[in-house]
Amino acid sequence: MTQQSFGVIGLAVMGENIALNVERNGFPIAVYNRSRDKTDKFMAERAQGRNVKAAFTLEEFVASLERPRKILIMVQAGKPVDAVIAQLKPLLDEGDIIIDGGNSWFEDTVRRTQELEPAGFRFIGMGVSGGEEGALNGPSLMPGGTQSSYQYLEPIFNKIAAQVDDGPCVTYIGPGGAGHYVKMVHNGIEYGDMQLIAEAYDLLKNAAGLDHNQLHEVFAEWNTTDELNSFLIEITANIFPYIDPETNLPLVDLIVDAAGQKGTGRWTVQTALELGVSIPTIIAAVNARIISSFKQERVAASKILTGPTGKYEGNTQEFINKVRDALYCSKICSYAQGMALLATASHTYNFGLDLGEMARIWKGGCIIRAGFLNKIKKAFSENPALPNLLLAPEFKQTILDRQDAWRDVLVTAAKLGIPVPAFSASLDYFDSYRRDRLPQNLTQAQRDYFGAHTYLRLDKPGAFHTEWTPISEQSVSTSTPRQLEAKLPTTPPTSSNG
Ligand code: NAP
Repeated sequence: MTQQSFGVIGLAVMGENIALNVERNGFPIAVYNRSRDKTDKFMAERAQGRNVKAAFTLEEFVASLERPRKILIMVQAGKPVDAVIAQLKPLLDEGDIIIDGGNSWFEDTVRRTQELEPAGFRFIGMGVSGGEEGALNGPSLMPGGTQSSYQYLEPIFNKIAAQVDDGPCVTYIGPGGAGHYVKMVHNGIEYGDMQLIAEAYDLLKNAAGLDHNQLHEVFAEWNTTDELNSFLIEITANIFPYIDPETNLPLVDLIVDAAGQKGTGRWTVQTALELGVSIPTIIAAVNARIISSFKQERVAASKILTGPTGKYEGNTQEFINKVRDALYCSKICSYAQGMALLATASHTYNFGLDLGEMARIWKGGCIIRAGFLNKIKKAFSENPALPNLLLAPEFKQTILDRQDAWRDVLVTAAKLGIPVPAFSASLDYFDSYRRDRLPQNLTQAQRDYFGAHTYLRLDKPGAFHTEWTPISEQSVSTSTPRQLEAKLPTTPPTSSNG
C-alpha cells in the first residue's frame, strides 16, 4: 500500500486549507478530525479528485503515513492539543514528527517538547499566519523546535509557504517555543496595526467628515504608497464601499463597535511586562478593544459625560496627509516595540532570532504583510545589533520629517475629543525614547522618601539615601537634605514596593 507523505489532524478552517495547500504542492496527505462529519464533508467536497486519504480513527491515520511520520495538529489551542498528543503518542514510532500549528502559548510548547523529545519523538511548535486564504494559497510559517527535526519539513514548508521576491515566507525560527513566541508577537503587532488604522478612520470620518466613498479613495490611495502599502490597508479600502443589501447602507456603519481580545494579543502584553520591554502601542491596542467591549456602559455614559464636538475646520486634503503621516510614524513606533520585544525574548530564552529574517517571512502570506517590512529587513541586515528600529537611518529621517504633522493630528484629536490611544502611545514612545532626561529622577526621590529605596546620582557613583525632612520643618539654614552614604547595593532595586 502506498503511503501518504503528510498528515493533518483537525479539519476546521485552518487545517482544511493547509491540507489542500500541502496536497496541491505535490505531497499526498492523510486527514483526521475528531468529529466524523467534518471529514465526510471535506472528502465529499473540497478533497474530491485530490490525493487525500481520510482516516476515521487515529490508528488508521497513523498507519497511512510514511516514516518518519509528519503530522500537523491544527486544533484549538490549549487542552485539545495535549489531548491529541496523548492519543497519538502510543501509536507513533521513534523519530516521528509532531507539528503543532495552532496559536499555542509558547511555554506549553516548551513543556510539550520536554515531554516528547526524551521519549524519542520530534516536536515542532509552528506559528501559522494568514487566516483561511493564507493557509490555502501560502501562509507565513514560523516553525520552532529542534533544528535537526526541521530538515525533514523544510522541503514541504518551502513549497506551501507564501513566496516573495526573496524566498518562501518560512525560516527555522529557533529552539523550543521560539516559533510560537514569534507568532504571538506577530499577532500583537497585528493588534497595533489594526488599532492605528481604526484611529485614522475615526479621524477621517469624524474630524474631517469623509463619507464611505471618500474613505475608500483615501485608503486605496494610501495602499499605493511605499510606506503604507499592505494587506490591512487594502482590505480597509475594500470594506468602506461595501453596501449592505438589506438596508442599502455601508455595512461597516451597521457593525457593533465592540471588539474582543484574547490569546495572543493579551499574551504579548503579559510577556512584555514580564520581560520589562516597553510596548505602549500594542498595550493601547489591547486596551482599546477592552474599552470598546463596554458598549452598553459607553452608550449610557455618552448621555452624561459631555466633551467637545465639531469638525476639523482646516484644509481637508492637508489633514488627510497629516493623518497619513501620523499613521506611518505610529506604525514605525509599533514595529520598533515589537522588534525590541523579540530582541529581548531572544536574549532571555536563547532563541537566536534573526530579526531581519522575521521581517522577511512576514512580507507575504500573513495579516501584517506590507511593503514596509522590506525596510525593516534592510535595517536589521545592515545592523543586526540595532538597539531600536527608530535609530535606523531611514526610519529616523522619516519620523524627523513628519513629526510636526503627527503632533498636529494629536492636537486636533484632543481638541475634538476623538480618542487616539495608539497614535498617542506611539508619540509618547518616540518622545520618551529620544529624551536624555525623563522625570523618573522625581520618582526615584519619592521612592527613597517613603521607602528608603536609595537613588543613584548623576554627579558621583554609589547608592544614596536622604532623610527627606518636609520643608516646613526645616530652618532656612538647614534646607539642604542630609545625604547618607547608604550601606546598600551600588545599584538600587528597580521594583517599586510602594
Ligand atoms: P479552531 O476553531 O480553533 O478549532 C477547531 C478544531 O479543533 C476542530 O477540528 C475540532 O474538532 C478540534 N478540536 C477541538 N477540541 C478538540 C479535542 N479535544 N480533540 C481533538 N480535536 C479537537 O480551528 P481553526 O480556526 O482552524 O484554528 C486552528 C488553530 O490555528 C488554532 O490554534 C487557532 O488559534 C490557529 N489559527 C487560526 C487562524 C484563523 O484564522 N482561524 C489563523 C492562525 C492560526 P471537532 O470538529 O471534532 O470539534
